[in-house]
Amino acid sequence: MGQKDNPSTSTLKSDAVGSRLELQEIVDHLEKATEETAEWLAQFHRSAVCKIEPASSLVADDPHQDTEFGCWYEANRGIGVFEQDAFISLAAIHQALYSHAGILARRAWRDNKVPVEEYEALLVKVSAFNDQARRLAKAFRAALSDLDPLTGIQTRNTMEGDLKREQHRVVRTGQPCCIALVDIDHFKAVNDSYGHLAGDRVLAVLTGILSNSLRPYDSIYRFGGEEFLLCLPDTRPEGAKSILERICKHISNTPIDIGTEELGITVSIGVAQIAPRRPISEIIARADKALYLGKGNGRNQVQIWTADLA
Ligand code: GH3
Ligand code: MG
Ligand code: MG
Repeated sequence: MGQKDNPSTSTLKSDAVGSRLELQEIVDHLEKATEETAEWLAQFHRSAVCKIEPASSLVADDPHQDTEFGCWYEANRGIGVFEQDAFISLAAIHQALYSHAGILARRAWRDNKVPVEEYEALLVKVSAFNDQARRLAKAFRAALSDLDPLTGIQTRNTMEGDLKREQHRVVRTGQPCCIALVDIDHFKAVNDSYGHLAGDRVLAVLTGILSNSLRPYDSIYRFGGEEFLLCLPDTRPEGAKSILERICKHISNTPIDIGTEELGITVSIGVAQIAPRRPISEIIARADKALYLGKGNGRNQVQIWTADLA
């Protein structure tokens, strides 16, 4: 999958981006984290200003661990996007902020005052945490909007940039890369016979089968209606053909449960290698030509583009 900018600026590494649900959960937690910090800061101020003994949660040994954000991060640390620098630094600021406040709350209660520079340093940490949490939430929201709502995979919006990056990699490293267009056979008949919702279900289940059949560094995009585009780095057309033939067979052997019954679905696949100096649109057109050869030859098969198809 293509790489985006460093996450600590504004975007995320796309290979670490999870499903729509996971992304939504991350956005929700980040938004809640700033609210939680505002409430906790109010508690700190109440204690310091009104000279009320600080609550035990404020002055515990590791106060950040008692927060919702702290528990959530702890439960997920080291997994997927939580391994990214942007998350690690957010968690570090969070921890520093809460322990600093705990020390100040204790001092305010014990000595009746805290040095102004200490208090100002705490406010700097609060701003740093809120800024970083908002930046991350914005980046995850953007990643979320790139995903197709029905299938949860990436759309054409991100595909073009990713494929151009793959092409640059092909030029730079000399490694081959293939793309494949996967089109469901006779899909209109599924809608016509079982309804649009059943068709949607087939699309969602098929996406799962395709995603699970690919290698971790392959990518899948919803190209359009019932068509998917796969990007297979470090793969020559012959290698792609054998991988995809296995997938094709697996799909035709896997009945899809649409609630009322199980449907046998097949796909046709057209493959083209990314040529170093051809526009990506031309490579996709080549895969499309190979796909239509497969449709004409009886469907449920993989075809590779060759120059005589031009
Ligand atoms: P072929 O084997 O030649 O590919 O035939 P086909 O019936 O699959 O192709 P055709 O282009 O005739 O029909 C594609 C159908 O896919 C028509 C369209 O209504 C349906 N479709 C496109 N997007 C969606 C979607 O999001 N949900 C559902 N349920 N159907 C969709
Ligand atoms: Mg089609
Ligand atoms: Mg079709």
